[in-house]
Amino acid sequence: MKILVAAKRVPDPDTRIRVRSDGAGIATEGVRFALNPFDAIALEAAIRLKEQGGASEIVVVGIDAETGVETLRAGLAMGADRAVLVREVAPLDPFAVAKLLAAVCRREQPQLILMGKQAIDDDCNQTGQMLAARLGIGQATFVSRLDLGPDQSTARCGRETDSGTETVTVTLPAVVTVDLRLNEPRYVTALGILRAKKKPIQEVTPAELGVDPTPRTRLLHLAPAPRRKAGVRVQSVDELLARLRDEARVV
Ligand code: AMP
Repeated sequence: MKILVAAKRVPDPDTRIRVRSDGAGIATEGVRFALNPFDAIALEAAIRLKEQGGASEIVVVGIDAETGVETLRAGLAMGADRAVLVREVAPLDPFAVAKLLAAVCRREQPQLILMGKQAIDDDCNQTGQMLAARLGIGQATFVSRLDLGPDQSTARCGRETDSGTETVTVTLPAVVTVDLRLNEPRYVTALGILRAKKKPIQEVTPAELGVDPTPRTRLLHLAPAPRRKAGVRVQSVDELLARLRDEARVV
């Protein structure tokens, strides 16, 4: 079984993010980038399936400028076998990403597509669903438990929902988007980094894939969240109720 894992480069979750003064995006100077944490979970799931004998090859795919190579190398160092970088410098929306990933899937023919439930930079949570729709295959989203069926024609997925875990079985090939509790991704080892240097990264352009990646959505303005006012300590429940009624006007 071939598994394709989508890998997006995002600002490192520990980096302090500043909004550009023109509101056109975030200031990237001095910002460290890393593999989207949910994609690291997706990749860990793929590696575990391979270690258990359930997969023969893991391909990581990123859509990015040439800087995306670094993120893909991190994925290769974790344990993916090879990588595909779709080179695109222009900003993309989930629909454009889904179109590009669908074109790569048509070439690669993976039996399982694993991706994050969301990218932590735009928090869209749309790409996996759009990809499954474009490929006309099934999907299981927010997955925190994943087991392949005995003949690898299905995957049994536990989905995180507001009311608990829902278990669904999807026929493969399918798209599975992963949630936080699926696993804890392994650390990259020095040996993994050395091995990654020899693993192939194929580069393609949207034109070579026959895809027009022009986004259908436009970022109008990005603004930092307003600073929260300092809290006040109240002396009694009566005072709390009075403030909620007279100042906050919520009761
Ligand atoms: P989103 O819908 O933007 O929250 O992203 C959901 C998932 O789609 C991410 O966790 C990635 O697995 C995948 N994805 C989104 N953008 C890209 C990209 N530029 N390159 C590779 N994968 C991506």
